[in-house]
Amino acid sequence: MSLWPELELVLPEVSKPARYIGGEGGMVEPEHHPSKVAWLLAYPDTYEIGLPNQGLQILYEILNERDDAVAERAYAPWVDMEAEMRAGGLPLFSVDTHRRAGDFDVLAFNLSAELVYTNLLNCIDLAGVPVRAENRADADLLIGAGGHCTYNPEPMADFVDFFVLGDGEEAVTEINAVVRDWKRAGKKSRQAVLRDLASVEGVYVPSLYDVVYDGPALVSITPRFADVPAVVEKRTVADLAAWPYPKNQLVPLTEVVHDRLNVEVFRGCTRGCRFCQAGMITRPVRERPAEQVRTMVADGLARSGYDEVALTSLSTADFSGIEEVVSATMDCGAGEVSVSLPSLRVDAFTVGLAAQIQRARRTGLTFAPEAGSWRMRQVINKLIDERDLYGAVESAFSQGWRRMKLYFLTGLPTETDVDTLAIGELARNCVELGRGHTKNPSVTVSLGGFVPKPFTPFQWFGQNTVAELQRKIFLLRDDIKRNRGVQMKWHDPKATLVEGIASRGDRRIGRVIEEVWRQGGTFQEWSEHFDYDRWTQAMARNGLSVDWYVHRHRTEDEILPWDHISAGLHKDFLWQDWRDALNEVGLEDCRWTPCYDCGACTGYSIEHIVASATPPAGGSQGTGQNPTAFQPQASVPVQLSGVGERASS
Ligand code: SF4
Repeated sequence: MSLWPELELVLPEVSKPARYIGGEGGMVEPEHHPSKVAWLLAYPDTYEIGLPNQGLQILYEILNERDDAVAERAYAPWVDMEAEMRAGGLPLFSVDTHRRAGDFDVLAFNLSAELVYTNLLNCIDLAGVPVRAENRADADLLIGAGGHCTYNPEPMADFVDFFVLGDGEEAVTEINAVVRDWKRAGKKSRQAVLRDLASVEGVYVPSLYDVVYDGPALVSITPRFADVPAVVEKRTVADLAAWPYPKNQLVPLTEVVHDRLNVEVFRGCTRGCRFCQAGMITRPVRERPAEQVRTMVADGLARSGYDEVALTSLSTADFSGIEEVVSATMDCGAGEVSVSLPSLRVDAFTVGLAAQIQRARRTGLTFAPEAGSWRMRQVINKLIDERDLYGAVESAFSQGWRRMKLYFLTGLPTETDVDTLAIGELARNCVELGRGHTKNPSVTVSLGGFVPKPFTPFQWFGQNTVAELQRKIFLLRDDIKRNRGVQMKWHDPKATLVEGIASRGDRRIGRVIEEVWRQGGTFQEWSEHFDYDRWTQAMARNGLSVDWYVHRHRTEDEILPWDHISAGLHKDFLWQDWRDALNEVGLEDCRWTPCYDCGACTGYSIEHIVASATPPAGGSQGTGQNPTAFQPQASVPVQLSGVGERASS
C-alpha cells in the first residue's frame, strides 16, 4: 500500500521534496504479486547522486522485464527527511509507488564509496530490519549489496546477507530464481535461502564463513560448509552486446548529477594504472559494437529528450572507432547535441575528436595526469609524457577553452617533495601555454589523497598519515598561491584516512561503522556531516589501531581480508607489479601487447573484445624514455586532449 498520503503531509517540511516523489520519465509502476520477487534497489546517498547510477538502472529494467520479479528504487533520505520519517513512524519507502520497504523481499544496495557505509546501516534500520544480519528473522528483508566496494566486503559483512561480485546482469536473474522459490515455499528458513544463494556464482554470503585472528593479524576466512566456495569468483558478462541497457534511461524531474543520456561503450580497462581499482577489477576489456552504441544513442535521445550524451567507460578514447561514433552522435541532433567523454586519457584523443565535440557547446575540461613528475607517473604506470600533456592543453586553449582542471593524487608510493612541487610547475606551464591564446587562462589543480585499494598493486602500501598529506597539500598551496591563473582545491586528508580504514579493513571494522552510525554519523561523504573524531574514537574504543589498518605496509605473505574473493587477478601478478612500481618500471597495455598472465582473461576464458588490433592514438605507452621538457614556444601539436571527469582513484 502506498505511503503517499502520509508523505504528502511531510514533504512541505523538508528541503528538496522532489527527491522523494518519483514520477521520472522511464519510471515503472510494476504490478506486485505474491508469486513475484519484489526488489527494492537502493542507493545509499541522496537522490541527486543516486538516480543516475547506471548499475542500478540496468538491474531495475532487467528485473521489471521478468514476469517473476518487480523492482522499485529507494535513496537515502536527507537528514531533515529522516527526522520527519522517524518522528512520524514512516519507514524507508520506494520512490516509484511509495511502498514501504517491508513490502519487498530484497533490499539491494549499490556500494561505490566507503563513506556511504553508515548510510547503508541507516537505510536498513529505516526499513525496519535489524542492522546486524545475525538478528534477522526468517521473513525479514534479504539485504544484498553490489558495486566496486564489495571487492572487500568484510567491513560490511555483519550487516549484509549477500554480496554480488562483478557484473550483475546475469547474476541478478539467478538470485531472483533462488529467492522466488524460497518465497513461493513460504520463506520458511533464512539459513536455507542463504545456503542456496551461496551456490550462485559470484555471490558471497559472509555469515557462512568463519574468521580467525591472531592478535591484530587475520589468520583465515574459511567456509563453514563443504558446499560453500572457499573463494568466490566475480561475475563477468562476456558479451556486452547482449545487454543493451538501460534501454529507457530515467529522466528526473529535478536536478541530478550527470543529468544527460549515458551510454556505456565498453567495460574493463587494461591501461594498468596501479592506483586504479576500477581498471583492475573490471578486466578484460569488452567493447559494445559501434553500431549498437549508435542505436542506443539515437533511441535514447529520441526517448529522453536530452541534448547531451556521455559515452561512458573507464577510458573512452580507447574505444575502437570513437571518432565515427562521436560524429554519428553529433549528427543525431542536427548540431544541437553535445557529447561528453568522461575519463579520457590525455594521450589518446585526436584533433578530429576534439573538432567533433566542438560542433556543439563546449563542456568543461578535466585532464588527469594524476602525478606531477615523470618519475611518479612511471611508479603509478600512468605513462603520459609531458609532450602529450602540454600538447593537449595547448590545443584546448587554441580551440577556445579558457579554463581547465588538472586532477592529481598525493600520498602515492615513493612520493617526495620534488614530485609534489612538480605539480605546481606543471600547472604554471599550462597557464603559460594558455597565455599564448587567451587573456586570462585559468587552471585549477584538484588534489585528492591517495587511498590504497584491494586488488591493485598498491594494496600492500602503507597510506600516508593525515599530517603527511596535510604537509604536502600546504607545501603545494604555498608554492602556487602567488601564481596568477592557478587555483587549487583539495580533498580533506581526514576523510582520506577514514576511506582508508574502510577500504582495507577486516570484519572487525564493522563495529566501528556501526558505532559511528549509532552516534548519528550519516552522510559522511558530505563535508558538513563528516565527523573525523567519531571515527577515530570508535576505533580506539574497539581496541583497533589506525596505524595497523591504514599506515602499515603489508608483507607479501600476509593474509589479506579479501583473499577469499577473486577479481580474476593472480596475487603474484599484483605483487610483481608492486615491485615494478617501486623500481619505476612501466607496463604496457595488454590489449596490444603480449599477455602478462594477470589472470583476468585466462581465468574466465574471455579475451579482450576490441574492434581494432592497433592501439588508438597515444595507446602505445611505456617507452621508458624521459619525455620532452616544457617548451612553450613549440608548434601546435598533433595530439589533443581529454574532456570530462576523472575516472577513479
Ligand atoms: S590475462 Fe593477459 S590479456 Fe587478459 S587482462 Fe590480464 S594481462 Fe591482459
